[in-house]
Amino acid sequence: MTTKAFVIGHPIAHSRSPLIHGTWLAEHGIDGTYEAIDVPPDALESFFERLRGGEFAGGNVTIPHKQAVFALCDSVDELARKIGAVNTLVARDGKVHGTNTDYLGFLGNLDAKAPGWSDRLDCALVLGAGGAARAVLVALQSRNIPIVLLNRTRETGDRLASELGPEGFTVGTLENINASAPHAGLVVNTTSIGMHGTRFDQFDISLLRPGTLVTDIVYSPLETPLLADARARGLPTVDGLGMLLHQAVPGFAAWFGVQPTVTPDLRARIEATLDH
Ligand code: NAP
Repeated sequence: MTTKAFVIGHPIAHSRSPLIHGTWLAEHGIDGTYEAIDVPPDALESFFERLRGGEFAGGNVTIPHKQAVFALCDSVDELARKIGAVNTLVARDGKVHGTNTDYLGFLGNLDAKAPGWSDRLDCALVLGAGGAARAVLVALQSRNIPIVLLNRTRETGDRLASELGPEGFTVGTLENINASAPHAGLVVNTTSIGMHGTRFDQFDISLLRPGTLVTDIVYSPLETPLLADARARGLPTVDGLGMLLHQAVPGFAAWFGVQPTVTPDLRARIEATLDH
């Protein structure tokens, strides 16, 4: 029988997930499908009934449903609770389990592209405290890395740090970026700055120490102005596309029973769909 999986969101047309999972399905010769399904908020509950009925092995959840599905899942793991968002569903025996794989996506990307990045890392400078920042922060915490969290809106950063910490966190606003820069061994942008031609105008990259790793979770454009500036100064950089690819691995393994690999060919296929 064909095993079916999905990504639900509203809207959903922009999702690259069908291309990622479709590539793996073809590569492994699996009798399976992965489709993008537009589910408006008022249809989420009835979609879960289809899921419990056994139509799908599971799927991904994206904006705006990542929080709403908490109440609909039969179980949600500790990690997703801590991150405060579910992005992956697994349906089994009439029950739906929710988890979050963005955390593994972030770690998997850096582990693959900058092996050893977290060894002896004394401070990570994290820019932004929105939804995606939560998975990044929990991932950094899992490697015991002290964090400086800077967000445009101070209260949001404070709230997030006290929820996830408060030990291990120093909070500030983006106005503190240049004062914090010389102390960081890793810089992570989790804000949407970098999209649509936006950039960190006030960030003086020359204040970063030689060897500081700079990574961005924005992947469209693939090389954000932050990454371009860092690269121009000879700093190591990792783009955000790998996070998207690596977060897809655990879901595929759970639904289709095969552990897929993030290959250069897969990356090239997705890259071809991005702004440059
Ligand atoms: P979000 O929840 O809306 O959070 C947006 C963050 O950006 C907040 O910290 C916000 O600060 C900040 N921000 C927005 N506009 C700003 C501006 N003009 N100046 C300074 N700060 C600004 O969004 P999200 O879901 O976290 O997503 C953020 C980015 O990550 C998006 O580009 C998304 O595509 C990308 N992402 C990538 C992956 C991946 O797999 N690579 C996964 C998830 C998300 P305030 O609190 O002050 O509003």
